[in-house]
Amino acid sequence: MDRYDVVVVGAGPAGALASRAAAESGASTLLLDRRSELGHPVQCGEFLPDATELADLFECPELIRTAFEVPPGTVLRSTRWMACVSPYGHRFTFPLAGYTVSRRAFDKALAYRAEGAGAELRHPVGVTGVADDEVVLASGERIRARVVIGADGPLSTVGRSVGFAPTRTLFKMITATTDGPLVDGIDLHFGRAAPGGYAWVFPRLTDANVGLGVAELPPGRSLDRLLDDFLAGAGIGPARERTHWWVPVGSPPASLVRGRALFAGDAANLVMATNGGGIPTAMLSGWLAGLAAARHVRDGRPLAEYDPAWRSALYEPLERAARIQRFGDRFARHDVLLALGMRYIGASGLDAMMRLRWPARLGRRP
Ligand SMILES: Cc1cc2nc3c(=O)[nH]c(=O)nc-3n(C[C@H](O)[C@H](O)[C@H](O)COP(=O)(O)OP(=O)(O)OC[C@H]3O[C@@H](n4cnc5c(N)ncnc54)[C@H](O)[C@@H]3O)c2cc1C
Repeated sequence: MDRYDVVVVGAGPAGALASRAAAESGASTLLLDRRSELGHPVQCGEFLPDATELADLFECPELIRTAFEVPPGTVLRSTRWMACVSPYGHRFTFPLAGYTVSRRAFDKALAYRAEGAGAELRHPVGVTGVADDEVVLASGERIRARVVIGADGPLSTVGRSVGFAPTRTLFKMITATTDGPLVDGIDLHFGRAAPGGYAWVFPRLTDANVGLGVAELPPGRSLDRLLDDFLAGAGIGPARERTHWWVPVGSPPASLVRGRALFAGDAANLVMATNGGGIPTAMLSGWLAGLAAARHVRDGRPLAEYDPAWRSALYEPLERAARIQRFGDRFARHDVLLALGMRYIGASGLDAMMRLRWPARLGRRP
């Protein structure tokens, strides 16, 4: 039976950073993914804030410098603003520096960087569970691991098999590409386009990534139908290369350690509840999980040291995002209330909420 210090399940952004950190710290590391092609099919809006914006949300500049790497060859377009569009078409625009990336290229680049650091990458290899110190593969093969890192996304198999089940709502998501407007900013549309969630238009190099997410589908409507209606209303489309997937939304869990398993990224429920963005937090948590795993096998440090590390970097802003999302949810399904609320707080209030601050015009925070 093969043996490794650290087995990382899932070669998305969380798993790639976890395996790079573990391998660079001297742990023998295996990175597994069930996909034939890493990063494909794309189940993502492909937008990232730049490092300065990220440092405004999460006060961990050193970690951001180390773990938030955006391989230059994967960037499709730089963007300078975000517009929140009300149900009746009013646009509230504010500065936000970021870029769209090709997830198809991005996930590969991060995983190959981990491979370059000494991790062994194997795919397509599905994992069906973890039993004691063994990772069980779909082929029936077993691999022995001193530490397992569950970086296998919102439906985490590792989580299910070790009884790690964070409380969350799984938003239903659809994404596609269109011949979109090639502008230097991103649009988020609230209200009827995606009741209780939002629809987006993110410009790529020669087309746009479009999609939407909702907690619950309106009666008689499907995600595809919502997307078609949204695109027709916005005068863009048709949608190509559709994919459906999930985004976990809720408060961050208190602990991401279960026995000899650590969790990172979507498997750990570390998505920003205000906008569903989870790539940066996947990378930061993955890095910290990989470091904690390596310190455990190398220096005998307790795996539980992962908890204070990720909590000090991520917990408070993620919890604030969950509170703001719960507050906004009271209005999000009523177009008139939502439009009035957006008008009342205006662009500066929406900007504040996206930056996880409480808009001054709303008075006391919930
Ligand atoms: C439609 C949509 C749009 C989004 N838009 C954005 C956005 O614009 N910006 C942003 O920041 N975030 C966005 N997100 C969220 C973002 O995609 C995730 O937060 C991010 O991908 C999390 O990274 P991860 O590494 O934790 O998980 P993932 O990227 O999901 O990677 C998990 C990996 O694990 C593998 N895997 C799963 N199960 C197994 C198994 N049993 N065995 C082996 N391998 C397995 C999968 O193949 C996958 O490669 C969006 C999500 C969706 C669904």
